[in-house]
Amino acid sequence: MFGLIGHLTNLEHAQGKAHELGYTEYGNQGLDFWCSAPPQIIDHVKITSLTGQVIEGKYIESCFLPEMLAQRRIKSAIRKVLNAMATAQKEGLNITALGGFSSVIFENYNLSQNKQVRNVELDFTRFTTGNTHTAYIICRQLEICGPQLGIDLAQATVAVCGATGDIGSAVCRWLDRKTNVQDLLLIARNRDRLNELQSELGRGKIMDLEEALPLADIVVWVASMPRGVDINGIPLKKPCLLIDGGYPKNLDRMVAQEGVHFLKGGLVEHEIEMDFRFMSWADMSVAGQPLFACFAEAMLLEFEQWHTNFSWGRNHITLEKMEQIGAASLKHGFRPLLLQ
Ligand code: NDP
Repeated sequence: MFGLIGHLTNLEHAQGKAHELGYTEYGNQGLDFWCSAPPQIIDHVKITSLTGQVIEGKYIESCFLPEMLAQRRIKSAIRKVLNAMATAQKEGLNITALGGFSSVIFENYNLSQNKQVRNVELDFTRFTTGNTHTAYIICRQLEICGPQLGIDLAQATVAVCGATGDIGSAVCRWLDRKTNVQDLLLIARNRDRLNELQSELGRGKIMDLEEALPLADIVVWVASMPRGVDINGIPLKKPCLLIDGGYPKNLDRMVAQEGVHFLKGGLVEHEIEMDFRFMSWADMSVAGQPLFACFAEAMLLEFEQWHTNFSWGRNHITLEKMEQIGAASLKHGFRPLLLQ
């Protein structure tokens, strides 16, 4: 059985969902309440692959909210992730994805040092960040949708916001070696890490967001920002493809410029039978029943019986692993979400 650890996008979203589920007393509570709320198993999922194989899993709501980071409630954020992981392990789940910010918190606060959660000793081989599949899906979205908009990838300038992150660096490696785009613009805050990435790639221009965006044919957004940014004042190329893979989204609203196309990044569509409701919670405003690629990774690992932390640590994602998980993704019936 697989597990999915998820969270809602903000306090308002959490309050709305609590009301919807009939927990009115929770729906009226502020951030303090969510800081003390324990993880909840809220869905049991049954999935049938294109191959006919059937697997089951559980969705665990960690009760983490991005406001906890924005308001420096770091201890609460850490507790949410560790408690959700302990819950997954107590349930005996073989492989569990740390969705959205869960893996960002795990890495940024060095939680591999916190193996003991009350009476549970965490076994990290039972968890995956899901970032290899996410990076693969974002690259495939770019490779399919760019040309659909008339963008010639061999001539294209691609800006990656969050380039030095786990997903961002994997995307850069793929775009450099597989897609072979003309120019890569690398955006993040920490200059040392940007320099390291640039030396690893042997190319790429380090730039600020404001400087990079007007030059880019395609922008990949994979920065771990608790709140989205507004780029409406920045002139963009026409056409320009914006692929937002952040959760919560990196862009706080649609860019209202003609010729600018927006795609939700790191999402998969599927032709497989799925009996679950948690994705309807994620506030996607996309038709159909798309799924986060990181969650799909846990399902793929369960289908393939690869019970291992396939994606783990920071900046270890190789092209070989992206290809491996990509092949499994196709085999079991997932495909990248495309422009609607
Ligand atoms: P990491 O923490 O590994 O990397 C985050 C990157 O963002 C770093 O390069 C960081 O560099 C950069 N960054 C953070 N804040 C800013 C900022 N204000 N401006 C510019 N750059 C910034 O994160 P991941 O790669 O694991 O995840 C990235 C995003 O993808 C997150 O939003 C996460 O929730 C989402 N995600 C989506 C999934 C899906 O299935 N669709 C799955 C997993 C994650 P620096 O600190 O130097 O600025």
